[in-house]
Amino acid sequence: MAYQSVNPYDGKILKTFEELSDEQLETALETASTCFKTWRHTTFAERAAVVAKASAIMRERTDEFARPVTLEMGKLIDQARGEVVLSADIIDYYAKNAERFLAPERLKPSSGEAAIESSPLGVLFGVEPWNFPYYQLARFAAPNLMAGNVVMVKHAGCVPQCAIAFEKLWLEAGAPAGAYTNLLISHDQVDRVIDDPRIKGVALTGSVEAGKSVAGRAGKNLKKSTMELGGSDAFIVLEDADLDKTVKWALWGKMNNTGQCCVAAKRFIVVEELADRFLDKFQTALAALKPGDPMDEATTLGPLSTEGALVQLLDQVEGAVAKGATLVMGGKRLDRTGAFMQPTILTNIKTDNPAFKEEFFGPVALFFRVKNEDEAVALANDSNFGLGGSVFTKDIARGKRVASRVDTGMMFVNHPTWTRPDLPFGGIKDSGYGRELSSMGIQEFVNKKLVCVESIDAPA
Ligand code: NAP
Repeated sequence: MAYQSVNPYDGKILKTFEELSDEQLETALETASTCFKTWRHTTFAERAAVVAKASAIMRERTDEFARPVTLEMGKLIDQARGEVVLSADIIDYYAKNAERFLAPERLKPSSGEAAIESSPLGVLFGVEPWNFPYYQLARFAAPNLMAGNVVMVKHAGCVPQCAIAFEKLWLEAGAPAGAYTNLLISHDQVDRVIDDPRIKGVALTGSVEAGKSVAGRAGKNLKKSTMELGGSDAFIVLEDADLDKTVKWALWGKMNNTGQCCVAAKRFIVVEELADRFLDKFQTALAALKPGDPMDEATTLGPLSTEGALVQLLDQVEGAVAKGATLVMGGKRLDRTGAFMQPTILTNIKTDNPAFKEEFFGPVALFFRVKNEDEAVALANDSNFGLGGSVFTKDIARGKRVASRVDTGMMFVNHPTWTRPDLPFGGIKDSGYGRELSSMGIQEFVNKKLVCVESIDAPA
């Protein structure tokens, strides 16, 4: 079943949903296209009224929005509430700032007058992942609705209740039918939507594989796309780091959302002076996590999103060990119902081990010991991914220097890579292209149009 809510805590099927027929999909496309014709002419103030209302609804009813996140993909309930508030913050940020970000920009040409106007492109199509079921939608929908575009979204198959709740939110906030459309559609239908001439841009957040398929299809149609793909972020610990505080952030960077973040800390690269002590403390911290019902606020280790995700991760760990990696801790499923995995640390991952280049999407840390800063940077850069990363040191100037040398889209000093409405988010290499959030995110799907006035008497 393509769209099904299954509680990964106990394996119970909560709800199943039919995919749209081709006729229903056609109606949805037509409604969106018709909606754009009027939405594009609304003022920023009119759009902001709707968008700010959507933010307020999420904030007022945080628990109601958080529940299906925990039920469908196992996020700890406190983190689910945090995601709802973060999504509301993003939505509100664009309600407040979009007009300023998209104001005409006056140029200073050598003659005449010139300005760049930003106008909407039309109906946009987003393909989104389950790991942050609202946040991913918010960062696509809010800037684009404020820019005067309308959006259609295909969400991941395992979070249909969140997908539907987010669509209802916009209608309740006063958006016209077709401004935000949730599409319960198959991968084949995704291709057809991308091919449809009414679609003017495509955004995907997900795996490299999905990115290649969707970006390839968009490319064939000469449609602009943005790709927010996987990562294998380095968490670099230099010898002058504050060890206890760094271990606290290592635990958070690895285990937030049970390790299922594109920007989770995935490769721990520690200078040898601190390596043994770091590993010891990190292991102790991971071992202290308490598995349980993610609805229970006392739980600190939730299940993975689905049984399938767990099986895939267990296979990956087994494959890494078969090719020579050493298991420091964990590596197995927990002996209980549900998609639970032991927190896991792998070391001795040599460059010829396929695991060296893979993304481990869950509670699995790859641990590397290096001689010095230069080796740390070289190892961090020896990756096909280039999403985020972090460096821990008491010397901020040194931290910034290391950050500048790591080839990724985002680097943080003394904090794992994280997200805020006002910080741009995105990567390079196999982590994709384009940026979401901040003033940059709203510029991706607008026509930056030059309007130039010259003297009619200007020389030819
Ligand atoms: P996924 O399998 O690629 O799924 C993401 C979305 O793409 C889902 O809606 C999925 O639909 C759809 N999809 C997958 N293959 C497709 C295809 N061939 N044609 C059309 N649609 C397709 O990714 P995931 O495993 O759910 O999510 C985890 C990945 O996302 C990780 O690699 C993670 O790092 C990455 N991620 C990146 C960011 C970022 O901002 N860079 C943020 C979050 C996650 P179905 O569910 O129906 O298959």
